[in-house]
Formats: sequence, C-alpha cells, structure tokens
Amino acid sequence: MPHISASGGICYFAQGSVVLDRFRPDTAIWQCLEQARMVIDRAIEDPQYHSDEFRGEFWANWLVAQDPPALPGLIGAVEKNATTARYYLIGPDDGRRLYVASEPDEVSRFCEALGWPSPTLGMPCWILRSERVPALPTGELPQTVHATFEWLKAWDQKLYRAIQARLAERDYLKWSRCELAIATPVGWIGFGFKLHAMTARGFARRPKEYRNYLHQRGGSTAIQRSVFQDVSPDYVYQRNLVSLQRGTLAGKKIALVGCGALGGYLASALLRLGAGTAGGTLHLQDVDELQPDNLGRHRLGYNSLFDNKATALKKMLDRESPFANITISEKSAVTHFPQGFDLVINATGEQAVSEALNVQHVQASKRTPLLHVWIFGNGDCVQGLWVDSRKYGCYRCLTHNDEAQYGQPRFPLTDADTLRAFVGCHAFTPYGVSSPMSATALAMDFIADWLKGDVSPRFRLRYNEGSTLRRFKSQNVSPLQGCPACQPQ
Ligand SMILES: [Zn+2]
Repeated sequence: MPHISASGGICYFAQGSVVLDRFRPDTAIWQCLEQARMVIDRAIEDPQYHSDEFRGEFWANWLVAQDPPALPGLIGAVEKNATTARYYLIGPDDGRRLYVASEPDEVSRFCEALGWPSPTLGMPCWILRSERVPALPTGELPQTVHATFEWLKAWDQKLYRAIQARLAERDYLKWSRCELAIATPVGWIGFGFKLHAMTARGFARRPKEYRNYLHQRGGSTAIQRSVFQDVSPDYVYQRNLVSLQRGTLAGKKIALVGCGALGGYLASALLRLGAGTAGGTLHLQDVDELQPDNLGRHRLGYNSLFDNKATALKKMLDRESPFANITISEKSAVTHFPQGFDLVINATGEQAVSEALNVQHVQASKRTPLLHVWIFGNGDCVQGLWVDSRKYGCYRCLTHNDEAQYGQPRFPLTDADTLRAFVGCHAFTPYGVSSPMSATALAMDFIADWLKGDVSPRFRLRYNEGSTLRRFKSQNVSPLQGCPACQPQ
C-alpha cells in the first residue's frame, strides 16, 4: 500500500511489491514518477485516503515530534481482563526499552535470554482497551495532558471516560508517573506523564481534585507518547500466524524421545509452532551424551560436548524461547515411556528402540498418538509412521512376520546394505547435513495435519531427487496379520 510516511516522505511503492526492469531504466523511472503522481493526487483530493494513511502509519506518527524521543516499548503477556500491569526499564544502557507485562518473572526471563541486565523494579501501568482505530488529530499530535484529553474525546468517548474514572482513583497519586498502555486495532500504544509531587501529596485523599488540576493548571504537563511491539508468546506463536495455519501446539503436551541430529532440529521447529506455551509442555528425553562425532550434524555445538543431549538442548532452547515450558528426562524411554502427553514423537532413529517403544505404545490401554520419524539408510529417503488406531498398522507392521519372509521389510526400498561407520565399538549411519532437516519437515507436516484433524496418509516417504531407491507411495498401511506387537496371540 503506497502512502505518505511519518517523516513526510512519500512511499509510492510498498517495499517488495514491484520489480522494476533493470534493463529498461527509462520505463522504470517513468513508472515511479507516474505512481508518485497518483499517490500525491489522492492524498490531496481524498480526505478519506489521507485519514486511512494516518491509520496505516499510526505507529510511526504517534512517536514523531517529541523530545526526548520515546523509548521503544515492548508488551508481553497481559492477562485478558487486566486493568493494571507493570512497566519495567530493560536493556543495556545505550539501548533502553520499556517492557509492560503482568508477571515480573516473564520480564526476567526475557532479559536473561537476551543476556541483558536484570530489569528495574516494575512500576504500575494502567491497561485500557479501545475497539476503535485511533482518530486523526485535527492539528498536531498531542504534546500535553490537556491536548491528550481532547484527542481522546475525539477518538473514543468510552475510553476517555474510562481514563477519567481511573484518574479519580487514589492509588496512582503515590506514583511518580502515570503510565497507560492502550490496546487498539492498530496495536498497543501508550502515553505517560509526570505527577506533580507536591500537588499529588496535597490531594492524596482527594484524587478527584488532582483530576481537576489536570483539567486546569496541570493540563500543560508534557506527555510522552509510546508504542509497544508485542513479544508475548501468545502473539509470536499464535496470533501472528493465524492466517497461515489452522492450529498451533500452544497448550498441548508434547514428548520428544531422542535428542540427536533429528530431535534437535525437531525440538526447535516444535517450539516455533507454539509447543510449551499457554500451559503446554515440550518434554525432551534422551539418555546419551553429545559426542564429538555427533557435532557434524547436530543442532548443538562444541559448547554442549559431553552434556546429556536433552539437558543441553533445553539449555539452548530456553535462551531461544524464554517463555516455553521445557521439561527433560535423562532416562531411557524404553523403561520410562512418557506418560500423560497429547503426542509422543520417537525421533531416536534406532530400530531396536523404536520396536520397544512401539510394543509399549500399542499394548497400552490409552492410545496417545505416537509419531515415529526416521532417516532411511544414508539419507536418500526420510520416513514417518503415525500410530493412533488399531485400524492401521503399527511400527512392527512394517516388517514381515510370516515364516517365509520373517524380518524382511514390508516396503523394501533397496536390496543393498546401508553404509555403516564404526568408531570403536560404536556404529553409526552417516547421512548428509540436510537429512535431519528433511525428516523434521516431514514430522512437522504430520503434526500440521494432525492439528487440522486428519493425519492421512499415516505412513509417509519422502525421497531425495537423485535417489535410486525403490519407490513406494505414502499410504495408510493396514495392520499385518499376526503382527507380534499389535496382534499378539
Ligand atoms: Zn503391528
């Protein structure tokens, strides 16, 4: 959307909206001039356009023309019906910001994640809401309390009255400043002003008198305008993405077994879909420690060497996603199968472990969905199997169990042996750096389908372009007759 910008410049093409032909500069210049002429004409002739412009640019406009300039503001989780939160000063000395939130713990976690000093003590901040888009001031932007009152009246009478009611309350007269944050359809904006200490003390028991003072002599008190970027997990992982996907993992309890190359990337991806937020959990489970030969493909680096993989991963992810609730277990999932989750993911990539988890899962009374995801052979194909119902095959159903073919794969992708590497008595299967990322993408697509309500096809294969493996279609596989895991005699 082209517009007149806050600094008075004209933006005639929104960034990224047009590709000018670099081989025909004369045409490109003509295109620009013509577009600029149209935008200016509209801004002059069409007051509605001008007003819409202001709304679109409200954020930038709200901050201009004040000295000292406003501190950049951030807003975290504010309870739904909260009328008061607290504001904190955060950040390094040369980059201070305001942070408004209900919970002090959230602000501390935020600062810790960024390596910033601890926040200052929180001061009260009123929370107000308006469903109306802020009005265009008739003259300049409000600079004083009096001008702000006038502007509020023109914008939203209800909001104006709500603020007047707050100004008749007693508590704020003990503060040094009065700060307000207002949720509007164009985002969070705010303003604040200093209280006159002597006058406030004098009217400590008669707050209405202080309000009168603000309408009279105190009306010339300067205000500081601010805007707030939403950094709450609710916004970052949910509202911000609503147009792209139908569901998120917010509020869900997810267990990830295996924090190797695949599990590491997968954990990061799960967090980006909201895992561990809104009362949910992301549980990481792994018995192994990170070894030098893991480093080449792992999400973790040298700084995590010889740490338990689940513990090290949590440490890293806590910094990346300070508001996510991440729990860990260093115990084997074979002996300590994760209980009480909405979804369990097996990313161990080890057949023996997968078989053991599968047996426990299919024989349990409650059938939580279990997603097995793995990298086939040397990475030419990534595969996943979603097990959630007796109607479909389990992990063991991918292996024949009749005498003639016992132990042979039901979907034989290759007749060749997988290349294995050995370090001492420890064997591993080498695959490319991209393989765990491909498997992560496959797992996330399963999960997106689950959130939409249909996980078919439950057995999926994704091949590399150059793969010479035998091709099988992704499909819902039927249970294998006599499967020793899901159909015990
Ligand atoms: Zn089975």
